[in-house]
Order: sequence, then C-alpha cells, then structure tokens
Amino acid sequence: MRRRLAAGNWKMNGTGAALSELDTLTATHPSPTVDILICPPATLIHQAAQAVQGSGVAIGGQDCHAEVSGAHTGDLSAEMLKDAGATSVIVGHSERREDHGEKDDDIRAKARAAMNAGLTAIICVGESLEQREAANTLDIIGGQLSGSIPDLATGENLVVAYEPIWAIGTGKVPTLEEIGEVHDFIRARLDRRFGEGVGRSVRLLYGGSVKPDNAAEIFGVSNVDGALVGGASLKARDFSGIISALE
Ligand code: PGA
Repeated sequence: MRRRLAAGNWKMNGTGAALSELDTLTATHPSPTVDILICPPATLIHQAAQAVQGSGVAIGGQDCHAEVSGAHTGDLSAEMLKDAGATSVIVGHSERREDHGEKDDDIRAKARAAMNAGLTAIICVGESLEQREAANTLDIIGGQLSGSIPDLATGENLVVAYEPIWAIGTGKVPTLEEIGEVHDFIRARLDRRFGEGVGRSVRLLYGGSVKPDNAAEIFGVSNVDGALVGGASLKARDFSGIISALE
C-alpha cells in the first residue's frame, strides 16, 4: 500500500514569523496517519526542521543544483538541503521550468543529485492550457516523464506530481476524469519503465488549486496518492483541512 502524502510548497513566501504555522500544524496532527511535508523557502529549512522534530511533519526544499558543490553562486546542493534537515526536494516545478528555463535534462540531473544525496525527489510534470486544448496532454506528460526521471528511481526516492500549469494558483481544477486519465497514464508509464514492483510503489500527487473543499473528491480519484499544495499550504488551518481529507 502506498502511504498517502500531503506536501505543501510555500514557494517564495515566509520569514521566521511563518514558523508558527508549523507549530499549529504539528499540534493539530500529533500522530498523522499520512505523510506530511512542508517545503519552505531554503532560508527557513534549518529552523523548520528543528520546529517539527519528533513530529510526523517532514521538511523539504523547492529546488537543488545538479552538482554536489562548486562555483555556482546562489545555488544550493542536495547535500546542503539534507544537511539543513530536508528529507525531500521538489524539482522541475513549472515555475522553475518557466522562470529559470529548466529543461527535462536539467531536472533529471537535479533529481539524480537529490536521490544520490538520500533525498526523495518530487518531480513535477504538467501541461499548459494551450497544450491541453490541442489535445496534447498525454504526449507532453509522457515526454516529461521519460526526460525528467532518472534511472535510479525507486518507490522510496521518487514522487511524481501532476500539476497542470493552468490550474496552479488560478482556482481552476481539471475534472476528476481528466485527473484520473493523467494519473492512470503516469502509473502505466512507470510500470512499463520500472516494472510493476517499483511502478506501483511510486506516489503520485495532484497539484493545482487544491483546497480543503475540493480535496476529498480529488483524493477519491484512482492513482491519486496525495497533493502538492501551494497557496492553501501557507496557513496551517487550510492545510490541515487537506490533510484531514487524506486521512
Ligand atoms: P496552488 O499551487 O495550490 O497554489 O495552485 C500548487 C503548486 O504550484 O504546487
């Protein structure tokens, strides 16, 4: 059985004051039956990891460099994130693909670095509105999966997040049928590439405008093992509603 996962992506939001949300979260879910992950800005990882110590909440990064160390001003390696207390890292988020021109090859290298450092890589895939309207969604997702996932992926070190770009931060959500179609497709691709043992153990998250009031129906879709949540992860009260829908 795959353990369900509620992952929050704070993006470029939060200073030290936001850490109190973690206290609320750990107090509200003292012994969670699902995995809970918060990915704060890198500046907060160390403090956040200390704040959640001994609780069922884990801390992750939002990006990492493909190399272990070196002359890369402003970048952070997967080892550094791990050293600061992270257990996972998001790679290939559409905002990174767009703002920083990251391509599948870059994302595969980052995911490999994360896995080699002992982190779980949460690899994001998703189509634009234009691509969906042109009925290219599965082609696009298929290409991103083969390009972005390294060969060393396992059920432990890989999570795949399906995030349609047009659903992120917009309040728009695909129909349950559309979500199910993509998640079944991703599962089939993982089974084919890695064999059913690994393919069936990788967790698949849906992301894009997940809120407490639409979470339960989304979590009822086949092959949806949890969510990657942006806006609604910033406040413990909202994120808690999503966690409860998973439990
Ligand atoms: P959203 O973001 O929940 O604010 O739509 C999701 C994401 O970008 O991971």
